[in-house]
Order: sequence, then structure tokens, then C-alpha cells
Amino acid sequence: MPANTIVISGPCSAETRSQVLETARGLSDLGIDYFRAGIWKPRTRPGEFEGIGDIGISWLCEVRDTYGLKITTEVAKAEHVEIALKNNLDMIWVGARSTVNPFTVQEIAEALKGTNIKVMVKNPVNPDLKLWIGAIERILKAGITDVSAIHRGFSVYEKTLYRNDPNWQIPIDLKQEMPSIPMICDPSHIGGRAHLLLPLAQKAMDLQYDGLMIESHENPTVAWTDAKQQITPSELKVLLQSLTIRNRSEIDEDAMLFLRDQLNETDEGIIQLLKHRISISSQIGQFKKDHNHVIFQSNRWEEALKKNVQKASAAGLSEEFVTQLFKLIHQDSIRIQSEILSTNEND
Ligand code: PEP
Ligand code: MN
Repeated sequence: MPANTIVISGPCSAETRSQVLETARGLSDLGIDYFRAGIWKPRTRPGEFEGIGDIGISWLCEVRDTYGLKITTEVAKAEHVEIALKNNLDMIWVGARSTVNPFTVQEIAEALKGTNIKVMVKNPVNPDLKLWIGAIERILKAGITDVSAIHRGFSVYEKTLYRNDPNWQIPIDLKQEMPSIPMICDPSHIGGRAHLLLPLAQKAMDLQYDGLMIESHENPTVAWTDAKQQITPSELKVLLQSLTIRNRSEIDEDAMLFLRDQLNETDEGIIQLLKHRISISSQIGQFKKDHNHVIFQSNRWEEALKKNVQKASAAGLSEEFVTQLFKLIHQDSIRIQSEILSTNEND
């Protein structure tokens, strides 16, 4: 692990005293920084296990006393914060289902005023950067100075490889807007299945994340929640050892500078081509206006898209990428033509 990378691990849920202590025993010689366990579980549907409740806090304190691990749990209301503070938890986190709700985050923030416990804020379940930023701001405004973000992926309706779509661009955008907030990856909730954890954790390391939160359980097959994504402490050990940690320092070798120059020039060429394309679009818009034509002709567009995607795939480009790119270009073309059509000649 690169220096300063924090590792948080422990079960999805605290189930029994022995499950918590046994998992912590397994994790204690891995050099992890925090032991996690959910005590109050926000479940999607009623009737599922909703967490063991306050008793679980005493098991976490026992983990700290026995193994010297720092402890953390999820809070979703003021009462949880109060219990966490009373028991001197080292850190708490706001879950994805709470981050979506400004009332809930504000309630948590109010309860935190006057304290300085470390707080992590998971991304909201929906891909909304502003909601994530807003939740972090509410915690900062309460006076908490050590706030981190956890990237746990975003809900999508379609079935995909992942339980939650990683959408890496959103945490990258967050980092750009709030560079001082450390970013932790939670590959467990992104992947949803144990075999996906390593590639996701590797990607997070390659993107220079500041830490990992990975669920582990002494016996994942019988876990009461998130059984498919939990791994044993010894599997976690192997995972951490399998990560390739690459050089994080700035590259200033000539060969790289030359390649970067070429990239910059290519980008400049793309900008000029787009500018040229826009001017053609405007001329088409003007022609349609002069001849009283509709802007959008679906057959022509579908045909052009198909041809472009075919050509691009033949050139070795990703079909998905090219489709998205041309859809964006087309959207902008429609915007420009609509503007032309709606300008009044007498203006
Ligand atoms: C969890 O960490 O167990 C949890 C409930 O996560 P999330 O809020 O990301 O769903
Ligand atoms: Mn979980």
C-alpha cells in the first residue's frame, strides 16, 4: 500500500458478538486502520435485518480494547451520532441512502456541532455530484475538519456487471471541486460480488485514491447482509498483497513530455474540426429555415450514426464511446439549428 493509504475493513453488519470479534481477530494482523461494522442498517425493503442496534456498539468497543483497532460505523440520525460520540468512536460515516436527503444530512450535521469526530460521506445512490458535495459541505459547516468521501457506486435500473455503476467520472469531478477531501473507494458495494473487488481496488489505486473500504466477514457464506460481496480476512490479505502500487510522482521524462505534446496538438485539431462542423451545422440550419424545413430527420440521423459507428469500430474504436460521442455532437447540432430557427429575422 502507498504510505498514507487508509484501509477500513470489517463486516457489512455486526451480527453477533463472536462474529464481530472473530472477524476483528482475523483482521488484526493485516495492519488495517479502521474496523467497520454496520449497527443500524438502512434496508431497501421492510422485514429485512435492520441491524443489531446499540448492543453492537459495545462489541465495536471490545474490538478496540482487544485488538487496538480504531472503530467506525454508519449513522443515519442524530440519536446514532449521540451514541457514537458517547462511546468515542474514532470515525463515523453517512450512508448512500442518507446522503440523498438534505434533511437527514442536516440532522446529522447539527448533532455533530461542537465535536470533531472524523466523518466519511458516501456518494448518494443516484449519480448526483451536487448532492454529494452538498452533504460534505453540511458536515464541514458543522465544524468537522476531517471529512472524507467514499465512492460506493451509483444505482442503475438495468442489470450490469456491477451492483452499483462505478461512474468513475463523478468522484474525479468531486476531487476537482474539493481537492482537499480524501477519496476512499468502497469496491464491495460497487462490485457486489467478491471476485470483482481486486480489479476495482486496483483501479482506485491507479486513480490515486486515498483509501479503501472493503467488507470482510469471518464466514461470508452465512452473512446476514451482503453475503456475496464479503471476503474473509485472509482473502483480504491476499487482495491487498495483490495490488500493484504504481509510482505516483509526476512524470517528467522526455519521452512522456513528447507524447503529451502530441496529445495537446491532437486535442487542438479536434477543437478545430468541431468548430468546422458547427459552422456547417449552422449553414444547414439556415437552409432549413429559409426552406421552412423541420430540424430533425430521424431516418437520416440513424443512418449517419450507424455508418459512423461502423467506420469507427472498423478503425478499432470502442462502439460505446463513439455512439456516445456522436450523440453528444448531434445534440449540439440540434441546439444550434433550433437557435437559428427561433431567431426572428426582424431582431
Ligand atoms: C454499508 O457500508 O454496509 C452500506 C450500507 O453501504 P451503502 O450506504 O454504500 O449502501
Ligand atoms: Mn454492506
